[in-house]
Amino acid sequence: MNYLTRHADLAPADEALLVPQHVEESIRNLIRWAGDDPDREGLRDTPRRVARAWREYCRGYEEDPAGHLSRTFEEVGGYDEIVLLRDIPFQSHCEHHMAPITGKASIAYLPANRVVGISKLARVLHGYAARLQVQERLTAEVAQAIWDHLKPRGVAVIIEAQHGCMTGRGVRTHGVGMITSRMLGCFLDDPDSRREVLSLVNGGR
Ligand SMILES: [Zn+2]
Repeated sequence: MNYLTRHADLAPADEALLVPQHVEESIRNLIRWAGDDPDREGLRDTPRRVARAWREYCRGYEEDPAGHLSRTFEEVGGYDEIVLLRDIPFQSHCEHHMAPITGKASIAYLPANRVVGISKLARVLHGYAARLQVQERLTAEVAQAIWDHLKPRGVAVIIEAQHGCMTGRGVRTHGVGMITSRMLGCFLDDPDSRREVLSLVNGGR
């Protein structure tokens, strides 16, 4: 999945959003610093667009992502197996370069007596991803939110992502993915449970 198609998936930034003058000026300065002329025609509206885009990229600051897990269901119908949402595409930005991080996450938990609508797991991920991040913290935050709210027997979050600051600059390591994982509860303590969740995540590959 490349950055452009992911970008197009995002809701359009609010055209009506007022951008303060000092924010526009900062972006004009950045364009100048990068070596271009912010007054040339093609760049004239860019500062405003960039500012609005960044509000969109960072919309996760306006919400509590864990709040998506506040509505849980206790009726699990005797289901006591792993629930897995696999390969959820996401986009974030690294806090070191504000460069795009694009990747996919697999989120699994073993319910004790509470479950949550499956789409909520993706919402938690997208909420934390819509902030300036490092991949390790994003992984840990998603796992911890599920652990705290669902009180399951185990949580596993595995994220594989490409970092724009690596692929687009410096060593230019295209196609190199970074993998992070956070296991809690039985997936951390019990080797059999851990093996089971990992084989589900990797199943059919
Ligand atoms: Zn970076």
